[in-house]
Amino acid sequence: MVNLAVIGAGIGGCSAAYFAHKYIPDSKVTVYEMENRVGGRAFTYSKEEMNTELGAEFFNPTNKTVCNLVDELGLKVKKLKETTDIAVWNGTEIIFKSSQPMFYNLLKLFTKYKLSVPRLLRMLREANGQIKKLYTKEKPAEFWEHFENVGLDKWHKLRFDNILVNMGIDHKFIDEIITPITRIIYSQNAELGGFAGLSALLGVYGEAIYRLKDGNDSLPRKLLEASPSKLELESKVKSIEKTSKGSFRILVGENASVFDAVIIATPLEVADIAIDGVPKQLQAREYQKIYIRLMKGTVNLRYFNLNASDKLPSIILTSKQADPLTRFSFNKSPKSDETWVSVTSTEPIGNDLLDELFENGRTIVDHTWNAAYPIFKPTPKLPSTCLDKGLLYLNSIESAASSLESSTFAALNSIKIIKEQLDT
Ligand SMILES: Cc1cc2nc3c(=O)[nH]c(=O)nc-3n(C[C@H](O)[C@H](O)[C@H](O)COP(=O)(O)OP(=O)(O)OC[C@H]3O[C@@H](n4cnc5c(N)ncnc54)[C@H](O)[C@@H]3O)c2cc1C
Repeated sequence: MVNLAVIGAGIGGCSAAYFAHKYIPDSKVTVYEMENRVGGRAFTYSKEEMNTELGAEFFNPTNKTVCNLVDELGLKVKKLKETTDIAVWNGTEIIFKSSQPMFYNLLKLFTKYKLSVPRLLRMLREANGQIKKLYTKEKPAEFWEHFENVGLDKWHKLRFDNILVNMGIDHKFIDEIITPITRIIYSQNAELGGFAGLSALLGVYGEAIYRLKDGNDSLPRKLLEASPSKLELESKVKSIEKTSKGSFRILVGENASVFDAVIIATPLEVADIAIDGVPKQLQAREYQKIYIRLMKGTVNLRYFNLNASDKLPSIILTSKQADPLTRFSFNKSPKSDETWVSVTSTEPIGNDLLDELFENGRTIVDHTWNAAYPIFKPTPKLPSTCLDKGLLYLNSIESAASSLESSTFAALNSIKIIKEQLDT
């Protein structure tokens, strides 16, 4: 019997609990979560007529670990049309609009940006092939080893824009098209780390974008339901201390419990956990604060310099001139003529936006993510996931990318490492 503690009931922690029961059948798992809900940064607002994602919004068919979990649990997926219904707005006017199949988009882009377009596509194809190889590696390893083994390490070592320029991609194409796209995912312009930029682009370049029909936070909930774990909500872990026997003492409130192995499934920068008796030190990362405002009303098309006869795209991305807004998502209400608008920004938005954007708008929810994802910088080596024998840090992968896929991939890797350590 292996007594395993998982700290954090986000998608990472919940998939770690699920994989523990799959790969280490004699494990007994306790999941500690400081909030009173499961899901972490997967958070679906579902109080009214439709589900809206306040956190992780999309995944795609290349996200193999997430897709396999969705299949295994029999969850229903919604394929989104947004892939072909996206516009880029520079704060004054729409500079790119697409409601056509990908082929026509590429043709349109080629006319304007010439050889930069096929160069980008070749780069994406090659990198996609390297990412696919990651899934063929059965043996668990540190993330930096995984990346080196498949030739992906240059991506986290360099800035995204530098990699693009080195490949002969034009600055104008980067500023006008690529940067707004990477900003949908990571709300960051300057010095974006290469792998983060790459994963953002691959997400939108792919054949489809998915969301779960019952909301993305149904995945972590269903993962826990499918594994006989003990879930302790409103249980903040204060400290982890290594005992002289090599086990780990965890303190929650005034209660201490001892475990054979521990998986930390939350960024340590925000978890406020004291770790004692473990030699490995990690460098703190800076996290991006993100504001999500969900509003409803009749949209004033003139705000985007559109005519009354123009169709509103599903997503409007903003290029850097329009800071601090990064994205508008639009959804027609199934019950009225109104539109739901979700606005993402890197600074709080004033009520003047409500007045300008709507003819009769109101705010439904304001949600702030104090630590949405790291501010991705190039890093010579990804931090360790194995802090000690039996102590795994899942979110070390966030130095490369932060997504549902990276956390589930890291969870599977952590469980395989623990299994390997137990077998030897
Ligand atoms: C606005 C936004 C949009 C995003 N969009 C996308 C997207 O479209 N696609 C995508 O794939 N990804 C997206 N992401 C990223 C994705 O949501 C995250 O990478 C992923 O959900 C992280 O999961 P996790 O389980 O590793 O961490 P988290 O979800 O952060 O879970 C950690 C959990 O640990 C708990 N916790 C923290 N400290 C303690 C403690 N001391 N004791 C007990 N519990 C603790 C927290 O309460 C939390 O529930 C987005 C994120 C944000 C914020």
